[in-house]
This record gives sequence, C-alpha cells and structure tokens, in this order.
Amino acid sequence: MALIVHKYGGTSMGSTERIRNVAKRVAKWARAGHQMVVVPSAMSGETNRLLALAKELAPAKTDAAYGRELDMLAATGEQASSALLAIALQAEGLASVSYAGWQVPIRTDSAYTKARIESIDDARVRADLEAGRVVIVTGFQGLDEQGNITTLGRGGSDTSAVAVAAAMKADECLIYTDVDGVYTTDPRVVPEARRLRTVSFEEMLEMASMGSKVLQIRSVEFAGKYKVKLRVLSSFTPWDIDINEEAASGTLITFEEDEHMEQAIVSGIAFSREEAKISVLGVPDKPGIAYQILGAVADANIEVDVIIQNISKDGKTDFSFTVNRGDYAKTVDLLKEKVLPGLGVQEVVGDTKICKVSIVGIGMRSHVGVASKMFRVLSEEGINIQMISTSEIKTSVVIDEKYMELAVRALHKAFELDLPAL
Ligand code: ADP
Ligand code: ASP
Ligand code: MG
Repeated sequence: MALIVHKYGGTSMGSTERIRNVAKRVAKWARAGHQMVVVPSAMSGETNRLLALAKELAPAKTDAAYGRELDMLAATGEQASSALLAIALQAEGLASVSYAGWQVPIRTDSAYTKARIESIDDARVRADLEAGRVVIVTGFQGLDEQGNITTLGRGGSDTSAVAVAAAMKADECLIYTDVDGVYTTDPRVVPEARRLRTVSFEEMLEMASMGSKVLQIRSVEFAGKYKVKLRVLSSFTPWDIDINEEAASGTLITFEEDEHMEQAIVSGIAFSREEAKISVLGVPDKPGIAYQILGAVADANIEVDVIIQNISKDGKTDFSFTVNRGDYAKTVDLLKEKVLPGLGVQEVVGDTKICKVSIVGIGMRSHVGVASKMFRVLSEEGINIQMISTSEIKTSVVIDEKYMELAVRALHKAFELDLPAL
C-alpha cells in the first residue's frame, strides 16, 4: 500500500462526464489498495470567468487593489470542483470527503493572488485516510495568518499537490493533465515536439521558470526541496487501462543525471509572452543605482527577470529589466512615483510586445557554442535579439513578440528536438 497524490487540471475536470472519469480512475487506484489524496483544479475556464467578472466591476489595477477579494472569488472554483469530485467518488461507492484549503489547513503568506505555502497540517487528512476515505483537497488556495483565503498564482494547483505530497511524505505525486507528459516544447506550438520519458529536475525547473506552463514553477521547487517523486501524465487515457502501465506512462522528473540525459545538449525550449521590458534612461552610473531601482520593485513583491545595464556615457547609463506583463503598469507607476524623483531622472520607457524564448539542457554545462548556435539560428531568421540572459543550463533571449513562434520552431528544428531520442 502506498500513499499517492493525484492532481487533475482544469481540462481534466472540465465537465461532469470528465469528473466522473476522474472518479473512476481514482477509484481504480484506491481499490488497488493505495491511500489516495486528490487535488483538483477548478473546471476549465472557471478561474478566468470569475476573474473577468471582477475586471468588469473594477477594470483598473485589479490585482493590486482588490487582491483579498479576488482570492475569495477565485478560490470558489476549486471548492466547487472538489465537492463535485467527492460526490462522484461517493456515487462510485467510495468513501470520500473534500476539504477547502482553509479546512486542512494549508497555511500561506498574505501575498494575495500569488501567495506562498508556508506549512500544511496533515492531521485531518491523515485521519480520513486511516478511516479508509479518499481525501480531496482543493488546489490553488490556502489560508493566511489573519484567517484570509489566499490563492497561489495561476497554475497553482500543481503546487498544492506537490506541497501536500511533500508534507505527507507521499510515495508519488502524479500530475494528470491534457497532454501525455512534458514535451521538448509546447506541442500546441510545435506539433513535431516529442514527449520526454524523463526530464531532470533542474531542466524542469528552468523550463517552468522560463514559461512552460505544464508545471507551475513553485511545484517544481517543492519537488526538488523535498525530493517528491513527480510524474506528468495524461488524464485522457481510458480510465480502466492497466494501473501499472498508467503508473509508468508520461514523464518522470528525475533527480539524478543518467548517461542518457547527458547526451542531449538541449532538452527543451520554453517561451513566454507574459513579459514586459522597462528601461530607465539616463541613470547616473554610480554605486547603489541597481539597488535603488530594483530594491523598490522587489519591495512591491514584483519579480524581475532579465536585467541589463548598458555601458555609461558621460556618467549616465540606461538600465533595463523585464517583469511579468501583468506587473508592468504597477512597476512603471512605482518607478515614476517613488524611484525616479530620487535619482533625478525623468524618463522611463517600456515595451509590452516582447517575449522570451529559452533553450534548456544540462548538456549545455559541458558543451561550448550552444548559445552561439542559438544566436545564429535567430539571425538566419532575421530576428533581432533585444536582451540575453544565461545560466549554466539555459540561454534566454528577449525578442519581438511577433517572432515568437517562428523562433521556437526554428530552434526546435536546429537542435534536432524533433528527432527520436538517442
Ligand atoms: P492543467 O489544466 O492540467 O494544469 P495546463 O494548461 O496548466 O494544464 O498545462 C498543460 C499545457 O501546458 C498543455 O496543454 C500544453 O499546451 C502546455 N505546455 C507548455 N509547454 C509544454 C511542454 N514543454 N510539454 C507539455 N506541455 C506543455
Ligand atoms: N484554477 C487555477 C488557475 O486556473 C489553478 C490551476 O488550475 O492550477 O490558474
Ligand atoms: Mg496547470
């Protein structure tokens, strides 16, 4: 008997028929003798629908100004799908109970709309498991210290599932979604993309942080920190396929580099349109400037990604960085109100029509010339690179948004990711 966590995404929970299928699949696992905790997302489209209602009532600055209420609102999506799944399981003849995040409780900080999980008290869930119940825990939500409902950022149910698996020391966490694993790149953009049988934790972390939304980045961070055995697989296989076949399908996130993986120099390509570039022009080139600009941004809980400071001319320089597109207006306002006056600078310019494309692979550690090949491929396509950032196992470029798909396809082909694995 093992303790298994299943997570089902929005599409997998998208209708009562699909919820019934999820219930049958979970029942199969429970009847095979496993203790089951299931973490569902809201039914597909529901979170967008709810947030759009809020936007109708308050079009401007919604996230910053109305965070608490947005979380109250968005959390209802997962509460509904969790209750429906518990009902479907009971209809299948299984004892089952659903809990909202606050009932577990899953404790988070108070950063509304992007809260971080701080701790999980698993006593209640464990007692139900011991009593033979399948436990459903809402994805995407938690409770802060003041008793407010919080949500974990878009795609956050992945993180709920992995955090529950970590807290309960589950034997495995299976992320069921609408693709049958992690691909070399998003198969919706490159139909030739290939499923990876395994992907190393570090590569998955880079891919998720560079925009592959198949797993939310924090879920990968949790998996790494607590060594959760994590697999991504399809919820669209027939629910009654052999359980061992199902358990070995999809993509396993691995923690060891085996020889096979070292042969692939680039394992995947990630991309993100959710980017915006901000440049502060004519900044005095003296110590403390980066801190003055980025410290204020960080204090407002805005994540900064690629950073560039140009060479100085006449003691002045231009300072550029990227933020999440949703944080763009907030960041520009903040700079204008709080930072520019102190720097004696007037001009801040921005571009929201950019994207970031990244090649990721642990093989980049031991091979030179990978980044230059990327630059050559982009130049052959006539694509101008605006910013570059690298890590040991990744190279990212910021380019005009309109070339994103062209860039991804060209790189996928040039790095031979469409060919069968070695
Ligand atoms: P869920 O609702 O199950 O959480 P998501 O939409 O969040 O599903 O994530 C699954 C989607 O991620 C896929 O449908 C696919 O389009 C996208 N995706 C992006 N990059 C990748 C990748 N490298 N491999 C697989 N899927 C990817
Ligand atoms: N329902 C939330 C969202 O749409 C969380 C999730 O699906 O993981 O972002
Ligand atoms: Mg998701």
